[in-house]
Amino acid sequence: MRNYQRSSKRLFTDFDGPLMDVSERYYQVYLYCLHQVRLPQQPIVQMSKEEFWSAKRAQVPEWKIGWESGLTLPGQAEDFARLRSETVHSPLFFQYDRLHDFAIPALEKLQEHGFDLAVMTMRRQKELYPVLNHFNLGRFFATDRIFCLRDDYKKRGDTKDKPQLMEKAIATLPPVEEQWIVGDTEADIIAGKRFRVKTIGILSGIRNEYQLRLHQPDRIKADLREVVAELTGDAIYNKIGAL
Ligand SMILES: [Mg+2]
Repeated sequence: MRNYQRSSKRLFTDFDGPLMDVSERYYQVYLYCLHQVRLPQQPIVQMSKEEFWSAKRAQVPEWKIGWESGLTLPGQAEDFARLRSETVHSPLFFQYDRLHDFAIPALEKLQEHGFDLAVMTMRRQKELYPVLNHFNLGRFFATDRIFCLRDDYKKRGDTKDKPQLMEKAIATLPPVEEQWIVGDTEADIIAGKRFRVKTIGILSGIRNEYQLRLHQPDRIKADLREVVAELTGDAIYNKIGAL
């Protein structure tokens, strides 16, 4: 018989999406790339933040976002896509990220209910640790409950890298009776399913409901507040009532 640890429920949470709102960073990178690639005087059709984010959530490819924004000369859409992927993780743009208002109350509530909390993210160490420190999130995640990419890790794509992180987690953490992963993309759902961790697709990130449903998560929730309600039966309140 397996020797379960006292805290017998675990939640792996993805970082960007459930906890962080990265939409402004992605939009600022879009604007930067659009203006870098356009020729002087070339007419462009700049998307609003809402239009852009809804395209991202629908998984419209980067080159198509460039094309639809007016970068239709030969090679421009491809240049836009390349520059975008080179830029989106550059330090200058991380300043646009913000923590969702409900993130800390939700983590506190889960901790209160005895959940063993772990964070699992495709961020590199240098992109994660300063943010964990800035928001004092270390109180929720012990050092051996933080799963991210080494600074020198050669990325192969989220749907390959995330299951690898989960494999490491399952091999190193004590077994629990029940564990969940919550995340905003297919990579989180694939990682969970491969290791029999129950999956919650969350809509407070970079995929819309249609895209997430294609991967058949066990649950779909609007944001972490709904996850808390589902897993603990408890609600999150602040001074003015429910958040
Ligand atoms: Mg994410």
